[in-house]
Amino acid sequence: MRYFVLLLALCLLTSPSLGKRKRARKAKLKYLKHIVVDPGHGGTNPGTPGAHGVFEKYVTLPISLAIEAELKRRTNAKVTLTRRDDSFLGLGERAVMANTAGGDIFLSIHCNASTSGVGRGVEVYFLSAESAKGEIAKLVAREDHGAGDDKAEEKPKNPLSVEQVLKDATMFKSHELSQKVAETIASELGKALKAKNRGVFQAPFGVLKRTEMPAVVVEVGYLSHPIEGKRLLQRAYQRKIAKGIVRAILSLDKSLSGKRRR
Ligand SMILES: [Zn+2]
Repeated sequence: MRYFVLLLALCLLTSPSLGKRKRARKAKLKYLKHIVVDPGHGGTNPGTPGAHGVFEKYVTLPISLAIEAELKRRTNAKVTLTRRDDSFLGLGERAVMANTAGGDIFLSIHCNASTSGVGRGVEVYFLSAESAKGEIAKLVAREDHGAGDDKAEEKPKNPLSVEQVLKDATMFKSHELSQKVAETIASELGKALKAKNRGVFQAPFGVLKRTEMPAVVVEVGYLSHPIEGKRLLQRAYQRKIAKGIVRAILSLDKSLSGKRRR
């Protein structure tokens, strides 16, 4: 009888349902093993002021840190952040950091703005050789303004023009993959945030010109919108952004695994 009681106690203690909840297994990423996350702006380059008076640089940093935390919680990926505090970084410096780190994918995190204040939703950009027009030209000008006066940009590591970059075989593969990355992130973010997926666009953002890996600018929402702008300041919403982006990375890695098996 004593043995029976002992055995019963042992079974109860080792039962997963009654013991500590098993930790979720981390996904082993096969192709996107090293993610470079670039919190847009910083230091003397504050970005857009937003509807609630909080500058973009203070929003992109906690979102990027949340992406890092979620990646580390759910995957075995290595994560590099281009900045961890409110320091200034030029566009060229960001690209050089990503290239030197040997990242497999580069995500530059930004918040959008519209002068009317009515714009809302998610947009994701990848590199284009053509100069931007209309609203996209205004966005590129705003994002790149005051962000480039650094030594790395004066002497870019990659002296090719954007057209040459897109013709280069390796870079072209990165560029092709950038489109897939942009589409997947836009879709997953839209779902995670229940926000409008405004789509994927091409634009000659300064930070995308020098990265030697699939690279996108993620405009996670409109800081100028009274409601969306407020949500972007909330930790819970920032975590939702991180979850959506990590879901996109997991899905991208899975689709790459499928392609390479063929
Ligand atoms: Zn920005």
